[in-house]
Amino acid sequence: MPAQSDKPEIKLDAIVIGAGFSGMYMLKRLRDELGLNTRLYEAGDGVGGTWYWNRYPGARCDSESFYYCYSFSEALLQEWEWSSKYPEQPEILSYLNHVADRFDLRRNIQLETRVTSAKFDEATNRWHILTEQGEHISAQFLISAVGCLSTANVPDIKGLDSFKGDWYHTGKWPHEGVDFTGKRVGLIGTGSTGIQATPVIAAEADHLTIFQRTANFSVPARNVSLTDDLQREIKGNYDEIWRAAKAGHGGFPYIPSDRSALDYSEEERNAIYEDIWKVGGFKFLWGSFSDIMVNEKANDTAADFLRAKIRATVKDPQLAEKLIPNDHPYGAKRPPIDTNYFETFNRDNVSLVDVKKAPITEITEKGVLTADDEYELDIIVFATGFDAMTGTLLSIDIQGRNGLTLAEKWQEGPKTYLGLQISGFPNMFTISGPGSPSVLSNMPVSIEQHVEWISDCIESMREKSQNSIEATLQAESDWVEHVNEIAQMTLFWKANSWYLGANIPGKTRIFMPYAGGIPMYRQRCDEVAEKDYEGFLLSA
Ligand code: NAP
Repeated sequence: MPAQSDKPEIKLDAIVIGAGFSGMYMLKRLRDELGLNTRLYEAGDGVGGTWYWNRYPGARCDSESFYYCYSFSEALLQEWEWSSKYPEQPEILSYLNHVADRFDLRRNIQLETRVTSAKFDEATNRWHILTEQGEHISAQFLISAVGCLSTANVPDIKGLDSFKGDWYHTGKWPHEGVDFTGKRVGLIGTGSTGIQATPVIAAEADHLTIFQRTANFSVPARNVSLTDDLQREIKGNYDEIWRAAKAGHGGFPYIPSDRSALDYSEEERNAIYEDIWKVGGFKFLWGSFSDIMVNEKANDTAADFLRAKIRATVKDPQLAEKLIPNDHPYGAKRPPIDTNYFETFNRDNVSLVDVKKAPITEITEKGVLTADDEYELDIIVFATGFDAMTGTLLSIDIQGRNGLTLAEKWQEGPKTYLGLQISGFPNMFTISGPGSPSVLSNMPVSIEQHVEWISDCIESMREKSQNSIEATLQAESDWVEHVNEIAQMTLFWKANSWYLGANIPGKTRIFMPYAGGIPMYRQRCDEVAEKDYEGFLLSA
């Protein structure tokens, strides 16, 4: 038997790991529609996944609330009231708690339980997991809903232990909050998180020093309240919103542009950019021109427009130049959406340190030491991102057939079939795994598609009395090749981003998500299912 525990084995039909958007819906489908004896294990002491952990100041969603949510229940859509287009983290967390209560999910969710190992037993076609508390649970199916951005990356900087002040990573923010009043705060990192946190911390702290390694592009969110009239309009139009979102390249319910940025004069193009910049949000990338992510010249036009906006916003011209990105195409790093990010640099209590020019060499007891200077601080905030897409799965000791570990299997980067299964790991599914659109899309749309595909697959297996499903090596390697080919057609390769694993020292550089868009991906998944799960080996 693969698992060792002195506690009695708990036998289930399905185990789900993680109580975020994906895990909760997976549990609901398996339990309520398939009647499977399912249990969900979650490390945190509450549900919510990414919205449970990321409580940093300024945290809010970057997709509009009314489609950054579940679509599976019309009643839920009609009863839930979003306060604004881009609500803050507590509101999204209350939504997810509401979902847990409304669908009575909590009775099958075990909180404060970290899964430490998962081993497949070929003789019985069952997975055996062990938890940190030493529990031993077995099930026919194992479904990972661990999220793509759930293992915090705290850079290994010499001396952190010696720091006399307090330090925090944004992805593990204390529940009681952090009081910045009267404090000298250092913020390391200018990705989506750092860009959201900057204005909020600056408004509270005595002084905020931002340590920037790579200057970033950002587009204003232009958040507004959802008035009663807007709510009514949205709720009356949900069928169309979801039809459009599920058909949209990135899971957004607006029509992507089909025009080339290069077919317009500079004046006409900038007028188009200006109009869409006033709307704000992700529409700037997907709604302006169709070739921004595939043609460098087209991308330059968007990047130049955004650079001009930084110059127009930041009053100190030298500071503006430091904040202007010049080393990667716009959108090749996940584009942040902000509320007054660049404006914040006009405040007297905010300063910028370029740590590309003078790298951080050490954290001292007083603060941050760079090659140029020492910055005395009371609090350091690490907005330094995550070991994305693979970090959390690899932190669990997962062993498939013949004792093959996931760490061995993914030594040269993640390999999956459709981002849903891994050859050598039968009866295990990954929701929004590497090789699927996941992080390049509006996550709830991709998550629902995965959950529904997985539960339909399990239902079909049960109808046909099949008890094992495993992606073939051939289907997997064909898919990996296809994912790479699609990525090569884009500009995603031109930035050192977490999409490529480039933010983690030693991580294999490979483009992890699927860049072909949701419609093409969904069609492929549907075809596979229609052809009796083509590319999978099913056995009775
Ligand atoms: P990130 O995009 O990986 O950004 C990390 C930042 O930290 C980068 O500026 C990086 O610089 C910097 N950094 C990392 N290690 C460093 C070091 N040793 N020294 C100095 N700087 C260092 O992480 P994130 O901002 O947390 O965002 C991760 C993802 O979470 C986003 O891309 C997005 O998908 C998601 N997110 C979503 C939302 C939302 O929808 N509401 C909000 C926030 C985040 P380099 O660029 O030079 O590596």
